Amino acid sequence: MASTAKAVEPVISAAWGKPQSWTLDSYRSRGGYDGLKRALSMEPAAIIDEVKKSNLRGRGGAGFPTGMKWSFVPKDSPKPKYLAVNGDESEPGTFKDRYILENDPHMMLEGIAIASYALGVHTCYVYLRGEFKFQAERTQAAIDEAYKAGIFGKTMMGKDFALDCYVVRGAGAYICGEETALLESLEGKKGWPRLKPPFPAVVGLFGSPTVVNNVETLASVPPILAKGAEWYAKLGTDKSGGTHLVCLSGSVNRPGVYEVGMHTTILELIHDDQYGQGMPKGRKVKAVIPGGSSAPVLGADELDVALEFEALKMKQTMAGSGGVIVMDDATCMVRSLWRVARFYAEESCGQCTPCREGTPWQTRLLRKIEEGRAELSDIDMLSNVASSIAPYPPIGLGNTICALGDAAALPTHSFLMRFRDEFEAHVREHRCPYGDHPWGSFG
Ligand code: NAD
Ligand code: SF4
Repeated sequence: MASTAKAVEPVISAAWGKPQSWTLDSYRSRGGYDGLKRALSMEPAAIIDEVKKSNLRGRGGAGFPTGMKWSFVPKDSPKPKYLAVNGDESEPGTFKDRYILENDPHMMLEGIAIASYALGVHTCYVYLRGEFKFQAERTQAAIDEAYKAGIFGKTMMGKDFALDCYVVRGAGAYICGEETALLESLEGKKGWPRLKPPFPAVVGLFGSPTVVNNVETLASVPPILAKGAEWYAKLGTDKSGGTHLVCLSGSVNRPGVYEVGMHTTILELIHDDQYGQGMPKGRKVKAVIPGGSSAPVLGADELDVALEFEALKMKQTMAGSGGVIVMDDATCMVRSLWRVARFYAEESCGQCTPCREGTPWQTRLLRKIEEGRAELSDIDMLSNVASSIAPYPPIGLGNTICALGDAAALPTHSFLMRFRDEFEAHVREHRCPYGDHPWGSFG
């Protein structure tokens, strides 16, 4: 398919692939730190208003309005306030934040400086997943440059405002990407999620007000300050400003990370020449997970939908963390769901019963179905187990402390809702109809 999708002026990825794009010199030559310069001439409350007006929504998965989150931080707290950057990117199918850290870390650092000044934060922690060794080194090198240039440290570009910034690497637990588990981990404890409320904006790190923002969210802030909230809001839709990064993987000719407009549809992402360039020869799309593995799956007839928070919510799924996973007509949906279920069973922290007991139970039932040993009643049992973790629809009624429970149950509900006939075929035929075909699962 030729390019029919509306081309997008890149905001986040403009410098990717350019020589030395990760250095301060390169960043400054592109107008880097102009947004911070403007921010430092404004009142902190006016910066928060500007981010609110831009309609920037969190890019970590939940899509919470960033300016609103910032405005929840108490202004008169006697305790120190913190900023924690969530770079624990571990959601299956999601691999965008690492590109920002590798290619343009100063964009995130400028976002950190603007957010810290607006919020009255003097200490920021950049929490990166343990596997991000190279990305952590590159981020640290950029932080060192920022200190040397007088952006971080005792003053901020000549203004009497101190900011220290530290990189912390996790130890490989997916759950530490959940914001309260991340805070526990930063405090040196086991990454067990906390009950919310209170939300971290009010009671966070060491009991102090803490804003937790995703890497891409913070990297989106400098252009908003440099070019204005109105400009940024207009790039998107009424309720979601700007452009965003999506990670395309699975059965497409050109997987990768693409910056797209909020209006770009899943079909365009898969087929357009600018993006996925279609399916491998002879294959047809069967299903797509639109927002990382926790987002409910969509069938082939549901893909003419924008990759945007509200549009996907109307379809009872989520834009999530931007991980678009494409499955073709040779994919076994039972084996794929089994693969997803194994991940959540492995990563459950074990703190609450429905998740601790339910996630391995789902895995055992799916294995039984896939291996042709199940009865029809096992399919109903699978549905019941998922409902005891989190019923669906709507999204967000989970019976657990954190969203990992929902993330483990939603795929099961949606696979059963849309592809129940495949599950029943496994039972009737006492085998997997897809055999051991290499395309049999995306995992
Ligand atoms: P959430 O809806 O509970 O919260 C979203 C954000 O808004 C949080 O920072 C929360 O503190 C804040 N918030 C919400 N209501 C608030 C209030 N009343 N006052 C103050 N702050 C408030 O969602 P969540 O559990 O943080 O995130 C779930 C999402 O994470 C999932 O949708 C999934 O897509 C995503 N996820 C992403 C990754 C990844 O690798 N990027 C990994 C796992 C999950
Ligand atoms: Fe832990 Fe799962 Fe409960 Fe989250 S839902 S706190 S991962 S047991």
